[in-house]
Amino acid sequence: MKNLIDQKRAVQNLMDLLAAEGPSGGEGPVADVVKQQLLNAGCRPEWIQENVSRKRLPPNFTVGNLVVKIPGTVKAPRIMFSAHLDTVPICRGAVPVKKGNRIVPKGKTALGGDNRASVAAIVTMADTVLRNNLPHPPLTLLFPVGEESGLHGAKAFKPSEGGNPAMCFNLDGSGERGGVIGALGAIRWIAEVRGKSVHAAVNPEGGVSSAVIAANAIAELKKEGWFGRINKGACKGTANVGTLSGGEVDNQVMDQLKVTGEWRSHSSASLKKIATVWKKAFEKAARGIKNNQGECGSVEFFTASDYRSFRLKNNEPVVQRFLKAAPKAGRKAYTEVISAGLDANIFNEIGIPTITFDAGNHNAHDLNEYIDIPRYLEACTLATVLATEG
Ligand SMILES: [Zn+2]
Repeated sequence: MKNLIDQKRAVQNLMDLLAAEGPSGGEGPVADVVKQQLLNAGCRPEWIQENVSRKRLPPNFTVGNLVVKIPGTVKAPRIMFSAHLDTVPICRGAVPVKKGNRIVPKGKTALGGDNRASVAAIVTMADTVLRNNLPHPPLTLLFPVGEESGLHGAKAFKPSEGGNPAMCFNLDGSGERGGVIGALGAIRWIAEVRGKSVHAAVNPEGGVSSAVIAANAIAELKKEGWFGRINKGACKGTANVGTLSGGEVDNQVMDQLKVTGEWRSHSSASLKKIATVWKKAFEKAARGIKNNQGECGSVEFFTASDYRSFRLKNNEPVVQRFLKAAPKAGRKAYTEVISAGLDANIFNEIGIPTITFDAGNHNAHDLNEYIDIPRYLEACTLATVLATEG
């Protein structure tokens, strides 16, 4: 299979994709390049749908997801390949250059190999399959928008828009990894802490300070092992306070304080437990601070689930297919679980079993970002094996 990959075209397509702009919410230019490359590969115009899931995306997004449905030549369940189109802001104006076995950014930007290496590997797979008339099941190529800013394209996507695929291979990530079969879930939260405002010097006894409530709650959580890395028997995860903002002036007891943060875990039971412990700690702290009238403070939590954790079983067809294909592309056949959110979290949540693998990108979101060309070509081969050998 490796010999079927046109390496020169695979690298040229990657260079062209890296040179195209496509920040989260503004993926129009890169989507146009992908479309043209797929037409050159032999995709028919009627297979390509632009602006999919558009109405469920934030209003300021300029384009929707790009979806390509390639009819099968053999009767088998539909397989989807996915790679997000957008790059992070530090990639703005990136100029890719080849340097030995690597592609690096020319100036002081990141490269955008996250996730253009993956996009290019999927384009190369389609190119290889179509030019060589390789037998294949119905294939869906999904290029979601807005991954970096909150998995927007994946969240807006409906399986029916992709022809209800039986499984998905998501290409993403940084560094060399096995097949990602699990990732954690995250909850972002805001706690509104309310106290009672009085003159801080004239009547301090009449005040209830929201600063003290939050301080006591956070100190208690830290002392009991519920802040930072959490390892309490079966309950494992992380918790963080990201921002604190409140108060108005120095001579007034602080009656309003907004605390924001996140909780993460591989298990939704753990995530629930962590959330409960945090809420209780803040409520206890609020009740614990009283003024001379016996009045205490209060706290209200607002939470939003960013994405749920998932964990695929080894006997899932998508995992089996990956483990069988990896050695044929020169990769080790192994799986792993990671601590980050991916489009795959959403696909697994909406019922499309999805495994994720890398396309040779390193140091994502960093000025030292680079693509390892041999590893990228391996990903092109791996995607082609996955698309054609069941
Ligand atoms: Zn990415």
